[in-house]
Amino acid sequence: MIAKHDVLVVGAGCAGMRAAIEAHDAGADVAMISKLHPTRSHSGAAEGGINAALGNAAEDSAEIHAYDTVKGSDYIGDQDAIEIFAAEAPGDIVQLEHWGAVFSRREDGKLAQRPFGAAGSPRTVYAADITGHVLIQVLWEQVCKRDIPVYEEYFAWQLVEHEDRCQGVVCWDLLHGGLKTLGGKTVVLATGGAGRQYRATTNAYACTGDGMAMALHAGLPLKDMEFMQFHPTTMFPSGILITEGCRGEGGFLINKDGERFMKNYAPNALELASRDVVSRSEQTEIDEGRGVNGSIFLDLRHLGAERILERLPGSRELAMTYAGVDPIYDPIPVRPGAHYHMGGIETDNDGATELTGLYAAGECACVSIHGANRLGGNSLMETITFGRRAGRAAAEWALANTTVTVPESAERDAEAKLDGLLSRESGERPWKLRDELGQSMLENFGVFRREDAMLKQLEILGDLRERFRTVYVEDKGDVFNSDLTQAIELGNMLDTALCMVTAGIARKESRGAHSRPHDYPTRDDENFMHHSITRWVDDGVELGRSEVRFTKWEPQERKY
Ligand SMILES: Cc1cc2nc3c(=O)[nH]c(=O)nc-3n(C[C@H](O)[C@H](O)[C@H](O)COP(=O)(O)OP(=O)(O)OC[C@H]3O[C@@H](n4cnc5c(N)ncnc54)[C@H](O)[C@@H]3O)c2cc1C
Repeated sequence: MIAKHDVLVVGAGCAGMRAAIEAHDAGADVAMISKLHPTRSHSGAAEGGINAALGNAAEDSAEIHAYDTVKGSDYIGDQDAIEIFAAEAPGDIVQLEHWGAVFSRREDGKLAQRPFGAAGSPRTVYAADITGHVLIQVLWEQVCKRDIPVYEEYFAWQLVEHEDRCQGVVCWDLLHGGLKTLGGKTVVLATGGAGRQYRATTNAYACTGDGMAMALHAGLPLKDMEFMQFHPTTMFPSGILITEGCRGEGGFLINKDGERFMKNYAPNALELASRDVVSRSEQTEIDEGRGVNGSIFLDLRHLGAERILERLPGSRELAMTYAGVDPIYDPIPVRPGAHYHMGGIETDNDGATELTGLYAAGECACVSIHGANRLGGNSLMETITFGRRAGRAAAEWALANTTVTVPESAERDAEAKLDGLLSRESGERPWKLRDELGQSMLENFGVFRREDAMLKQLEILGDLRERFRTVYVEDKGDVFNSDLTQAIELGNMLDTALCMVTAGIARKESRGAHSRPHDYPTRDDENFMHHSITRWVDDGVELGRSEVRFTKWEPQERKY
């Protein structure tokens, strides 16, 4: 063990940094571990904004925010968590603003709020269309101000579980090579999503579900893994996201004939229906031949140059650079792309997991406020509100307990696995398996799901996992051995994908992002109003379920 701390936060995106700041302010000796420099975390790519019921643009309240979130979740978000979230979000926004977040403002000086999909009021606070970039800089400033140490370019690989407690993390030092073990009285996982399981995704290369896999392999439950959100506007061909803020500002979706097709699917909400609805509508247009190159178009031309330049400058630049179109003059080709994991490590409302001393927050966690479908703008808010709550709870536990013990066997096990990977002299290369995983997940576990395709995907995953056992890491070096880390990431993605597909096959209904129009086209509350729970048992997935927590909203049909 090279060092020990009260609280170790794994991940330095919005959730990780917010947790670390809170743990520090609660009096704990906290350190962060990150495979990337903190400001390169994927939170920095978030564009459109962050939801809190401030009521600056129209009447709003925590109650309406909570209801929109429950309804958006297709009624399997946990309502107690959602109520906490909606009630605490406004205070967290004010805190961020006091720390210096340069949110866009209205003429009267209040924070501006834009409409987002399926929101009953314009409640998305934003900083033009670079909200994530602004937040990550502000949080990083606060981390630096507090001198919170960061084990930067440390790749967390395995949790140290000892005496029924989580007591640290075994990492691979990316810069110098070698295993480095850190002890912690508590550990907070904040490692983000796993969108890289798909070929077409908005997620960065680093989003490989490492924290989910670490928890899974430590025997912890992952919850609702079948619910992968497809974002309706990812650019063709790159997959780079064009923010929902474009539709919030009034952008249209049109097909190859120039028809504003959302009127046929969601006559009231149109382009601002929830993401699952819009993604399915687009996919139907594409499948029925009304797309171009597997895409439809996002049309901003009618907004005019002035508004585009003021409110959506980042989106315009992305469109010009990556799709070769200037949205002032031409529509942008877009299609649904894998974007956000609603599921993740099961936690309580303070981020605590089943394992004493282990907490989780942000996209890697499932508390669950998003249920089967996340509302745009709720994820950044979740990273802040539940990052803060997890940081506080982890610090309080750590300060009330004294010892950290890391048995030698923890590092020995990791070393043995590492030797296994590095000693092979031939075999298949990880990138080949990764490409097959990404392509097959898109084909067989995408916007629409079919029983036969999901069963096929299960077989494909079995085959890929078998081939992974003999995967060949060509680079045997110590310094920035991305060949090695990509192999580890691939293993993580394969195992979490197995959880997703296993849970998806068992959910014989259509709910939120899990859509089975061919065999189970409707929601079935009688048989499936429950969370899916997947655990790692005997090198495979064991499927269970847990109750959805209700407070006051009875399930109703969703209409847009
Ligand atoms: C393009 C894009 C735009 C988005 N726009 C919005 C938006 O406008 N509004 C909104 O609410 N949501 C948005 N989202 C979703 C939201 O941004 C993310 O869900 C959220 O930022 C995730 O934050 P996080 O802190 O959980 O993870 P991340 O920001 O992804 O951070 C993960 C951290 O974990 C570290 N890490 C990962 N694995 C390891 C490992 N093995 N060892 C050590 N460190 C590790 C990484 O280095 C990183 O520091 C968007 C998402 C994308 C992809």
